[in-house]
Amino acid sequence: MQGLPESTMQPADVCIVGAGAAGIVLAVELVRQGKRVLMLEGGGPGIEDASQEPYRSEITGLPHNGVHIGRFRAKGGTTTRWGGQILELDDADFTAREWVPGSGWPFPKQELAPYYARAIALEGLARATLSDEAVWRELNLQSPFFTELEPFFSRWCPEPDFSRLHRNLLENSSQVDLWLHANAIALVREGPKILGVKTRTLSGIETIFRADRFVFALGGIESCRFFLQPEEAEKPWNRSGLLGRHFQDHIIAPAATLEPLNAATFHNIFDNIFHRGFKYQPKLRLSPSVQAQQRTLNVAAMILYKGDTEAIAGQLKITARKLLGGKWRQASSSELFALLRHSPLLARQIYRYSVKHRAYVAPRSRIELGVHTEQDPLSRSSITLSETRDSLGMLRTRLDWHVSNNEIDSIRAFVKVAQRSLSSIARVVPDPDLDSYDRFRLKCGDNYHHMGGMRVSSSPSDGVVDLNLRLHGMENGYVCSAAVYPNSGFSNPTHTLLALAVRLADHLSPI
Ligand SMILES: Cc1cc2nc3c(=O)[nH]c(=O)nc-3n(C[C@H](O)[C@H](O)[C@H](O)COP(=O)(O)OP(=O)(O)OC[C@H]3O[C@@H](n4cnc5c(N)ncnc54)[C@H](O)[C@@H]3O)c2cc1C
Repeated sequence: MQGLPESTMQPADVCIVGAGAAGIVLAVELVRQGKRVLMLEGGGPGIEDASQEPYRSEITGLPHNGVHIGRFRAKGGTTTRWGGQILELDDADFTAREWVPGSGWPFPKQELAPYYARAIALEGLARATLSDEAVWRELNLQSPFFTELEPFFSRWCPEPDFSRLHRNLLENSSQVDLWLHANAIALVREGPKILGVKTRTLSGIETIFRADRFVFALGGIESCRFFLQPEEAEKPWNRSGLLGRHFQDHIIAPAATLEPLNAATFHNIFDNIFHRGFKYQPKLRLSPSVQAQQRTLNVAAMILYKGDTEAIAGQLKITARKLLGGKWRQASSSELFALLRHSPLLARQIYRYSVKHRAYVAPRSRIELGVHTEQDPLSRSSITLSETRDSLGMLRTRLDWHVSNNEIDSIRAFVKVAQRSLSSIARVVPDPDLDSYDRFRLKCGDNYHHMGGMRVSSSPSDGVVDLNLRLHGMENGYVCSAAVYPNSGFSNPTHTLLALAVRLADHLSPI
């Protein structure tokens, strides 16, 4: 699209900036409640190099992959490439833990319970089995029990790309007006009231869009960057000075290897499950009582199978999924060739999937305990602005990401507990670098989960948005992004974000 012709729709009730996970779910709910919605999306219909350019950032702390390869600027946002793994935060994540400074949300988890339930349907998981106990029962398997670790499942969206899942709304609803290549670059405001959002295309065409209320659903890092821009000299939302501070990701690290004592028992417990069209991934979390006793952050782990055959099998699965999902154009000729060349392996995968309802695991794979860990809620990581400007004229992100000794101590505690708790099914051998902060820190990766920087709080003095996600000091501007999380547990963040989006829709559409 070259320019932005005038909108033909009636003035919108709500303008949503960003058509990614949160923006799309919010739009679905608002339309259901009879609202007229204007959506402004910076990217195009698919991923384009030129649209990704504004995401190029300066990195000053530890290497952080996700700032460059973990977010996508296109219709559907990062759901065009994400895994689609769904998990609630724990009860304890919402409570202040006296041994974790800055922890707790300003409301309990019960506040989100009805919205989590509605988010499940919007993720395409309404017919999935939602009780872990029932999943084991339906498979005729005993649910596992460990003394200090709690087994649980994450669930995976069957259609992860929200631009496809909610295509009908985005393309056919008369209540939605979606503009692509409409990059928000500034607010037009009169004191605490936002009158409009100024957008710019990559070719430089500027337009101002007006609405009654504005929701910024730009992704975790980009939400902070947008509200940090210096053109807004006075920033009522940042009286706390916390904008961009305490950025958090989930650390992912191979903390130990596992040697099963009995292969069949081990694979029954830990191999991914495919049941009635849905995928369930078995995981382990540190029990809340152990966290309190050992004063750790919240840590969980999954079982990772590594090896050459495992890598090929993983790639075949991705290609097969593209073909089955009708995304055959995304499959390269080398991927298609690999599918033919490794057809016996593919056949074994299909057998295990369709007959045994479990993931295929290559014999002799190395088995790793991959931990994913909460970061300190008052982390010293931050999002600030670089001195260079992007192709839209905005100052770029400067990301300073750190992994603290406290976070590594929590991983160490998890591995010690796993050695005891799993002793009846596997020998757990800690990673040799785990006893050195410096060496293990280099093995800690980020997980493309961008949280914090715009903390939700009841008072403007200790956060950036209020309990309804409205920017402190503003009348009609809201942020719907994981940037608002005060602390982040270990759970994949998007399910909670979507629950917040549904809750925000109810707030914007009171009955
Ligand atoms: C490979 C990968 C796997 C992942 N797997 C999981 C997983 O399994 N489970 C999970 O919970 N999370 C996962 N994530 C993270 C997940 O994708 C994000 O948490 C989620 O997409 C965040 O939703 P969002 O709406 O905040 O941001 P996005 O989905 O990124 O959407 C933001 C939208 O805003 C638009 N935008 C940005 N700036 C502007 C602007 N100035 N003007 C107009 N539009 C703008 C963008 O183009 C984009 O469409 C994964 C991420 C990656 C990369």
